[in-house]
Amino acid sequence: MSKDCLFCRIAAREIPSEIVFENERIIAFRDINPAAPVHILVIPKEHIESVAHLEAEHEALMGEIVISIQKLAAQEKLDEGFRIVVNTGREGGQTISHLHFHLLGGRNLQWPPG
Ligand code: AMP
Ligand code: ZN
Repeated sequence: MSKDCLFCRIAAREIPSEIVFENERIIAFRDINPAAPVHILVIPKEHIESVAHLEAEHEALMGEIVISIQKLAAQEKLDEGFRIVVNTGREGGQTISHLHFHLLGGRNLQWPPG
C-alpha cells in the first residue's frame, strides 16, 4: 500500500467510500463523480500504477477483475449493456495513479469517447 495513494487509502478504509464488492485481492466502490447512472471503480488492492505497469504475475488478477465486473454488472441490472474503461497514462486521461477499471452503464453510452 502507498500512503500517498487515494485508492490505496480507500482500499484500507482510511477514506470512506461506498464499497459494493470486496475480496482479498479486489475492491469495488462507487465513483464520487458518476459519469453514468451506474459508475463503479474496480481496483486491485495491490498498488499497481496502470496497465503500463502490469507484469506477468498479474495475469490471473486481471482476469478476476473482469469477471468481478461481469458480476457487478448483473447485480446492477445492466442487462442492456455496459462499458469497461481503463484510462492509462497522461494522454489516456488517467488522473489517479492506481490501476482502476471503470464500470459504466444505465444509459446509452456514446462512441467514440472524447
Ligand atoms: P481516471 O480519470 O480514469 O483516473 O479516473 C479517476 C476516477 O476517480 C474519476 O472518475 C473520479 O471521479 C474518481 N474519484 C476521485 N476521487 C474519488 C473518491 N474519493 N472516491 C471515489 N471515486 C473517486
Ligand atoms: Zn495505490
